[in-house]
Amino acid sequence: MSKIVDLTHTLTSKIHIYPEDPKFSAKPACQFPKGDGIRVHALRLGTHTGTHIDAPYHFYKRGMKVDEVPLEWLIGRPVVIDISSLVRGTDRFRVEWEHLEQFEDEIQRAGEGDKILLIRTGWDTWFSWTRSDTYLHHPYFTGDVAAKLLEHGIRIFGVDTLNPERTCLEPVWGEDTERYGEDPFALHHAILGSGGLKLIVENLANLQEIMEETPGKEWIVHFVPLKLGGLDGSPIRAYAIQQVGTPVSRSRRHF
Ligand SMILES: [Zn+2]
Repeated sequence: MSKIVDLTHTLTSKIHIYPEDPKFSAKPACQFPKGDGIRVHALRLGTHTGTHIDAPYHFYKRGMKVDEVPLEWLIGRPVVIDISSLVRGTDRFRVEWEHLEQFEDEIQRAGEGDKILLIRTGWDTWFSWTRSDTYLHHPYFTGDVAAKLLEHGIRIFGVDTLNPERTCLEPVWGEDTERYGEDPFALHHAILGSGGLKLIVENLANLQEIMEETPGKEWIVHFVPLKLGGLDGSPIRAYAIQQVGTPVSRSRRHF
């Protein structure tokens, strides 16, 4: 049996939610009789709850919807880079392209391969069922980073934070532009609006478990969403399977 790593946070009512997004709830809708018998729950959640994928329609009305994304687009060999020691201990670390330049070989290799780049920040260790605010103060990436990743041909950009951009703690559409002089959704706009089918995966977990290499084996990740007709995103069950494959020479570097 191949080794499988779960890259998904469990959905419960205590899961971290982007401020102002719908809270997750699962309420019994049918329980008959008590004990063993039939159980059905009614779910309430947002399309961006927990570990999830963003489809272009999230920001662009003519963009592809989540049910239209081909399955083969959602499965492949990732390249994972680790910036955890760079961002450790710093709230809201702003990751610029200059921080990632030393990984350019790996990013290039991702672009020449299955075009899936995952960045481990280690911030998932702040994920807690007490919903500590620290999880919301995660590192974030600039629009320039997105532009460079697109130049390298990346089609799926995945992170282990609630959001790849700075999480606004209040609803501040427009205000951030005034406050910081830049588009608060520059990365989403660049990737989801790039014209090709490019996707963002957010809130991944356990990326450290797929950093290790085993000679002759490689990881394949699966980021398949629910087939939600005409919608902008969906929770996914993200996981990686290690299987026999073409050995790839990796020179992993860490900050
Ligand atoms: Zn999202």
